[in-house]
Amino acid sequence: MNSLNRRGFLRTGLLSATFLVSPAAVALAKTSSLSDVGKLMNADDTVTIYSAREIVTLDPSRPTATSVAVVNNHILACGTLEDVKAIVGGQPYEMDTTFKDKVIVPGFIAQHAHPLLAALSMSSEILSIEDWELPTGTVPAVKDKTDFMQRLGAAEEKLDTPEGVLFSWGYHAAFYGPLTRSDLDKISTTRPVIIWMRSCHEFVLNTFALAQAGVTQDLMDGWTATAQEQSSYSDGHFWEQGMFSVLANIAPMVADPDKFREGALVMRDYMHSKGITFGNEPGGILAKPVQDMVNSVMSSPSMPFRWSFMPDGKTLVEMYEDDAQVIAETEKLASWYGGMTHSTKGAVKLFADGAIYSLAMQVRDPFIGDYHGEWMMDEDLFERAFRVYWNAGYQLHIHVNGDAGLDRVLNSLEANLRRNPRYDHRTTIIHFAVSAADQVDRIKQLGAIVSANPYYVTALADKYSETGLGPERADQMARLGDVERAGISYSLHSDMPMAPADPLFLMWCAVNRITSSGRVAGENQRISREGALSGVTLDAAYSLRLENERGSIEPGKLANFTILDANPLTVDAIKIKDVGVWGTVMEGQKFQVGTADGRKVLLDPTSPEVGSFEFSKAAIEHAIRSVHAHG
Ligand SMILES: [Zn+2]
Ligand SMILES: [Zn+2]
Repeated sequence: MNSLNRRGFLRTGLLSATFLVSPAAVALAKTSSLSDVGKLMNADDTVTIYSAREIVTLDPSRPTATSVAVVNNHILACGTLEDVKAIVGGQPYEMDTTFKDKVIVPGFIAQHAHPLLAALSMSSEILSIEDWELPTGTVPAVKDKTDFMQRLGAAEEKLDTPEGVLFSWGYHAAFYGPLTRSDLDKISTTRPVIIWMRSCHEFVLNTFALAQAGVTQDLMDGWTATAQEQSSYSDGHFWEQGMFSVLANIAPMVADPDKFREGALVMRDYMHSKGITFGNEPGGILAKPVQDMVNSVMSSPSMPFRWSFMPDGKTLVEMYEDDAQVIAETEKLASWYGGMTHSTKGAVKLFADGAIYSLAMQVRDPFIGDYHGEWMMDEDLFERAFRVYWNAGYQLHIHVNGDAGLDRVLNSLEANLRRNPRYDHRTTIIHFAVSAADQVDRIKQLGAIVSANPYYVTALADKYSETGLGPERADQMARLGDVERAGISYSLHSDMPMAPADPLFLMWCAVNRITSSGRVAGENQRISREGALSGVTLDAAYSLRLENERGSIEPGKLANFTILDANPLTVDAIKIKDVGVWGTVMEGQKFQVGTADGRKVLLDPTSPEVGSFEFSKAAIEHAIRSVHAHG
């Protein structure tokens, strides 16, 4: 099939790796007799053969199989049970039939998600526009404002301390109507009530929260003119620059380290329950105490997935005027990680234009309605960042949402390619909300690849057909059908919490393109299921330069599997999102959903640095910065 054939080239680099992990092959190369082989093997060398109802490999030379042999965290062989046993040969092995009724697919990869932001939102009282299926139970979508007020009131009654903060995330004024301080005063006048809107770009506070945070009209009169325009004391409402101005005041109430840690554990269990075996955050944290807190959960050996943090190139070029220092400081960040976390090597995130959720992207044709495109990086800074990292051989992941934003990105890419040609640069177009048909050819010609958020279509195509974009542009958002037909590598991402970090759900969005009203938006942009599966596995790995070790079930790669109840390539397309997840095998270890071993964390949660005001402020600032472009 087309989507697999175009990836055939990926295999070349793998063939040599195949034998490196076979203990028998290694041993035989070093010894003269078979009796020596046994001596060289240790307990870890025991082969495990998993049998399954079906294995979807994404290996074009053997697309399906029923058995896979694993040794030392790696895949030794894959095929029928007979094939696999023949390759295992005389090595000791054990059979594992746990998955005999299950379907094994390559381990899912969260190509682009924000764990800290996810932790913050998931540990709050979630009252949002969509259902959130958490390990602790499903939180159903809010129906309307009355429903919101009732559920917020119920949450208030459940709080066990009289002075504790009631912090909720997910309200969306376009869905439920305006929300103001007086609404929240009906919930409580004796404790802080803080609502973080679904876009993460706005807060609404009750009167008690304003007082406790020390926010007064006098204080606000001292803010910049724009911050004053983007806030309202009487409504207790703070957005955009107004939100940034109020952040320092409310940080300790919102970003409590204990809450964070609890949220990080929910985030961990949530992502694992969706079958994730590896993840990546573009725009990694630049405050060490905050990263330390994140590491206290995510670096732990008990984590069911590894995570890489891709440096935020935008902030680094802003911080350092000397080009060489930019690269030196970028590389230094690698020392901040360890265990199950690491720095994404040789890649940075840059930003072009503004947010999709608030219609702040740069578009070629005018918006319908009163919306304004924004640039996240001014052109000279963007050009400098592009050049500095390009010359240093970095892969660029570039946030871009509008077609005019994409023109800028492609112009810069072309100029840099002409000036300093690079092969296999894999410049990654991130989000890919609004684009034009002609840009797909250009992406292909310039050797760029795409990482799209297909949830935009599900969540926004109906609303943006009415306002903002109009039906043509709204329905052609995330133009993945064209990208697939052009043979461009693409991956799917959630940008969690911008969309649920649920790879099967993302596949469902991209394959069906069904909107919140139930209609199909842009049927021509639907993609194949094989392409969608590869978008959350092999092509996601490719976009992170990990395709030699992850993304498909092939000898030599890490033994990372997601274990499903049904095959997402053959199940009714409308049911892809409902396929059950048993759990994962991560680097040869089984992790069943709902059986995470305890709540181990590495660091002392009471460490003074972690508990400080600076910590809270830095944490919330990172969270906000990472969504500033998205909400
Ligand atoms: Zn982004
Ligand atoms: Zn993002």
